[in-house]
Amino acid sequence: MEKAVSLILDGKSLSERIRGKIEEEIEFWASKGFRRPTLSVLLVGDDPASQVYVGNKERACKKVGIRSLVYRLPRNTTTEELLDLIAQLNAEEEVDGILVQLPLPPHINQQEVILAINPKKDVDGFHPENMGRLVARMEDGFVPCTPLGIDLLLRHHSIELKGKDVVIVGAGFIVGRPLSLLMLWREATVSVCHIYTRDIAEYTIRADILISATGVPGLIKAHMVKEGAVVVDVGISRVGDQIRGDVDFEGVKEKAFAITPVPGGVGPMTVTALLLNTLKAYRRRFGLSVENLL
Ligand code: NAD
Repeated sequence: MEKAVSLILDGKSLSERIRGKIEEEIEFWASKGFRRPTLSVLLVGDDPASQVYVGNKERACKKVGIRSLVYRLPRNTTTEELLDLIAQLNAEEEVDGILVQLPLPPHINQQEVILAINPKKDVDGFHPENMGRLVARMEDGFVPCTPLGIDLLLRHHSIELKGKDVVIVGAGFIVGRPLSLLMLWREATVSVCHIYTRDIAEYTIRADILISATGVPGLIKAHMVKEGAVVVDVGISRVGDQIRGDVDFEGVKEKAFAITPVPGGVGPMTVTALLLNTLKAYRRRFGLSVENLL
């Protein structure tokens, strides 16, 4: 008997739908005389991947009617200069969200920079106050964009998390660690593997939902995946002229119930989550409810 084709968790089309709703809401507020939401994006240096990500965010903002102010700063910008700019943007009435594109060049003190952002404008959700709200399960904080995007993608496809075994491979600050907290919030049983885990396959084979965020192309092979699992691939690696994920898509899709493609899965959902966080920051600025944000 031929196996049914696995479900492709299409982040691109879901993103289009959510972004359509965001645009509608912004148009609605504009028609009532409100100013448009504004996101400031700070990019230091000329890292090619970061330039692409910032360009994507800029285009996505424009499309839904969010004003984006992108500061492209030279590589030799100092920590103090960056802190001064953040202080200005914190004080700026019209700025709802501030995002500093990571990674920063090594001479800049990343922790100090993240700490300097007003938590109410921290739409990337990396400020410890927002990470703390995630631990405390407080709805009014900002959840980092990639975990939030994954959660939206799973929820949209009615993939139950409560009581399920979620295995996350990769414990980075941007994805793996905050994602583990969000999955706990959703009442899943969470295991987090990383570079020092002795045998990641021992964990991955048990996963009902397997999420890989390492940046190691092809790390997750079919024999490491349980039949019928949901597989989410966060990895983005450039291999020659191709973009590859962490998951051996061709092999794994034969076993998975559902799987995200790379590109077109988590990537667009991350940008969509940023737009939602910016809308949330905007609503809060005007004392509007942040419920029913999706
Ligand atoms: P990171 O370097 O902060 O963390 C990587 C994690 O992977 C670490 O915990 C490390 O221990 C683990 N790891 C590395 N090699 C491993 C191995 N062989 N086995 C098990 N664990 C291993 O990276 P990050 O910022 O969390 O990003 C991870 C990946 O996700 C990258 O490819 C990045 O480009 C991608 N990413 C994608 C999106 C998106 O929107 N799709 C967003 C952010 C990051």
